[in-house]
Amino acid sequence: MALRKRRLLGTSEIDMSDEEEPASKRLKSDSTMETDAVVDIHAEGDILLVVKSIAGIDKPISIRVSSHALSIGSTVFKRLIGDTPPPPSFDSPKTLQLLDDDGDSLFLLCNILHLRNDALPARLQPAALLAFVRTVVKYNAVVAASRATTPWLDSIYHSKTLQFSDPVLIFKMLEAAYLLDDPVYFARFSTRWVQQQTVGQSVDRIAEGSQHGKRLAAELIARQKDSINALKVDLDLIADACAEALADDNKHYIDCAPGAEPTPEDLEDKEDDTEIEICEVDKEAATKYLSALRDANIWPATRWPNSIAAIIKLFENFRIPKTDVAEQCHFCIQVDVKFATAIGMVKQMHQERLWGLCLDCYRSGGLFEGECRYEHAKGKTVSADAVVRQLSASVQSSGGSSRDGYMS
Ligand SMILES: [Zn+2]
Ligand SMILES: [Zn+2]
Repeated sequence: MALRKRRLLGTSEIDMSDEEEPASKRLKSDSTMETDAVVDIHAEGDILLVVKSIAGIDKPISIRVSSHALSIGSTVFKRLIGDTPPPPSFDSPKTLQLLDDDGDSLFLLCNILHLRNDALPARLQPAALLAFVRTVVKYNAVVAASRATTPWLDSIYHSKTLQFSDPVLIFKMLEAAYLLDDPVYFARFSTRWVQQQTVGQSVDRIAEGSQHGKRLAAELIARQKDSINALKVDLDLIADACAEALADDNKHYIDCAPGAEPTPEDLEDKEDDTEIEICEVDKEAATKYLSALRDANIWPATRWPNSIAAIIKLFENFRIPKTDVAEQCHFCIQVDVKFATAIGMVKQMHQERLWGLCLDCYRSGGLFEGECRYEHAKGKTVSADAVVRQLSASVQSSGGSSRDGYMS
């Protein structure tokens, strides 16, 4: 037994650093157990992880942890620990020299692996988060660590001080969400990127300095193009309500069906001798709507600004101008109701649409067939049929007297 214990002590050190390390440095590392401070994450832990610095204190510090907890959450730790002979004990803890790793990140990761979420900071700066993510990936501990990072991603996402106009920062956060397999923040950061970054950037510029960022950059650019196209379809829905009112097909005399001439009875019904006129109610309203859209820079699309967020804002801020439709006759198409319905639908769709990327779909290289963890509609845009149905339903349900429309 004594022999075995001596052998254990002699071989229990695992040196993760380079084989060719200078002797002086190795000597220093070997002596850390006696001289350096120990931080307990698990007071009865059987392993000391030696890191070169924690919390800005620039000297080696040992973190006391449980080999069992580390092995459950990280296959890399399991292998490292498994490579050293058992059994460990409190009196003779093994040491793992992890001097090449970021000490703060390892400290956070070990707390997470010991379910010490109460010991985690509420917020993490982006640089610290990125260092942490690298460590998590290196130790293959994403499953164990990803949920614990949600508050950090959240605080960065909602930070008032971080400059999210900085494309590099937001792209890095997006990569972090990807590596942490966090579908919510992958969707949120990609939405922010797609909406806020100017249209027409190049993949190389976006993915600059990132090893695996090219595909992500290409997908973001494609997403921006899709979004612009979807916005053009939205605009068509709105403008079409006006075009319909102005179309020759719908031209009609007051109280006469389109294409019909007033009959002698119609003329007899009139009390005065004036002629029956073309009904102008819809036409006047449609013209007013189109000029309001033009004033708001919504129509035509060539007037749009160069970011999707700014375009969405135009739609959001649009207010339907008041029109006088009291004189609408039986054969008017009720352009006011159709227009208000179209505006209301588009605003609603803008709120519900996923402008960014779904992580599950991104990983599957197209639309993910199963249930995506981030809920989103999988059709590209609302089908024309569905829109036509809703528009005609809105006209029918508005009845003869009430013309308040969809959005009052
Ligand atoms: Zn009419
Ligand atoms: Zn999806």
